Amino acid sequence: MEQPHRLYAAPAPLDCVIVGAGLAGSLVALALLDRDPAARVVLLERGRSVGGNHTWSFHAGDVPVEASGLVEPLVAHRWPGYDVAFEGFERAVGSPYAAVTSARLDEVVRARFAAAPRAELRTGADATSVGRHHVDLLSGERLRATLVVDARGPRLGQQGPCAYQKFVGLELRLASPAKRALPMLLDARVAQTGGFRFFYTLPLAPDRVLVEDTYYSEGAALDVGAVQAEVLAYAGAQGLKVAAIERREAGVLPLPLVAGAPPDPDGPLAVGFGAGLLHPTTGYSFPVAVRVALHVARAGVEAARGEGWARLCAQHERQAVFFRLLNRLLFQACAPADRHRVLARFYRLPEPTIARFYAMTTTTTDRARIVCGRPPQGLSLRAALAKGLET
Ligand SMILES: Cc1cc2nc3c(=O)[nH]c(=O)nc-3n(C[C@H](O)[C@H](O)[C@H](O)COP(=O)(O)OP(=O)(O)OC[C@H]3O[C@@H](n4cnc5c(N)ncnc54)[C@H](O)[C@@H]3O)c2cc1C
Repeated sequence: MEQPHRLYAAPAPLDCVIVGAGLAGSLVALALLDRDPAARVVLLERGRSVGGNHTWSFHAGDVPVEASGLVEPLVAHRWPGYDVAFEGFERAVGSPYAAVTSARLDEVVRARFAAAPRAELRTGADATSVGRHHVDLLSGERLRATLVVDARGPRLGQQGPCAYQKFVGLELRLASPAKRALPMLLDARVAQTGGFRFFYTLPLAPDRVLVEDTYYSEGAALDVGAVQAEVLAYAGAQGLKVAAIERREAGVLPLPLVAGAPPDPDGPLAVGFGAGLLHPTTGYSFPVAVRVALHVARAGVEAARGEGWARLCAQHERQAVFFRLLNRLLFQACAPADRHRVLARFYRLPEPTIARFYAMTTTTTDRARIVCGRPPQGLSLRAALAKGLET
């Protein structure tokens, strides 16, 4: 007897499979479910939780108004401004600043998936092959989808020539309340060892603070234990009485010096840090991850790879070219101990220029302001050209 046809039919492809529930993948998932809560979306994450172990900070200007519904639920901390400090120069910047934590991202993503009848979040799911319309899992299962999004994150060792932003951050519980109420985004009044070096302090609550020691270096090596000791010494010097280390986060972010290889046009939609969708100079990827999520949600899964995507990538690349040039100036034209002077000069610029620098929305005038004028002490174009600055 002939079997009913539907028993033999392959299951209909899902609308979207997203590989990697980090920052970029989670934002795409949330944006797609905002657009259509009944979408058949699968978000795959090989770890046990969404978002890993991060605090993602961003500036108000990084998030367009139309993305506030997407981003607001994720914000765990916010401040009305921040400070920067160099030897002989301090500045208070009146631009709001905020932070998303992985714990909050995990909470929001789980709740959204639990409320979406046809969406599925799978943690502990390791993808072994990610194609244009399929994903193979370590378990042997194959998922098919109209749109596959590859958001597997930074892949150290697979990028082209680069420098590194390296840091160790400690979330500290304090025995007595901290005096500082605003973030200290950059305190470079410290020994400039290992390249441009600064401390970053986020007051999270009266008795809780995140302190990071950050280095802009040529090499990727990071001695987490030694840098942790530096963080504790700095905290002590700032008068912070540490009761306990609550959490530690560390990162080695490649900062590209030249353009990377373009993603495979026949492969999945590559997003996030691993796809080069980051700020080449700050190593931050929050602003562009938000833009990508908005785009995918606006275009929908059928049109996500269409003209709008090409426009977004071209716009990103136009900005990225300038920031890679800045990286070459910073790493090839400046001795490591002099790099802080370039940043000190940058922080004297008008606030809107600083905001557009972070958001990667610089204008021609901003770019001219950033690179023109009397070069800071220690910047040698001759040295840079000898090292191939023109590449
Ligand atoms: C400690 C730290 C702090 C940072 N702070 C900031 C900040 O304040 N602001 C900012 O803008 N940027 C920050 N960055 C830089 C950048 O934004 C982050 O690295 C960001 O998390 C990159 O997003 P992503 O989604 O591309 O990658 P990730 O967030 O790393 O996500 C990738 C995810 O894919 C998963 N995955 C990988 N392979 C597979 C696989 N085969 N199968 C299934 N899942 C897989 C990983 O487990 C991971 O969860 C920080 C980076 C680090 C390391």
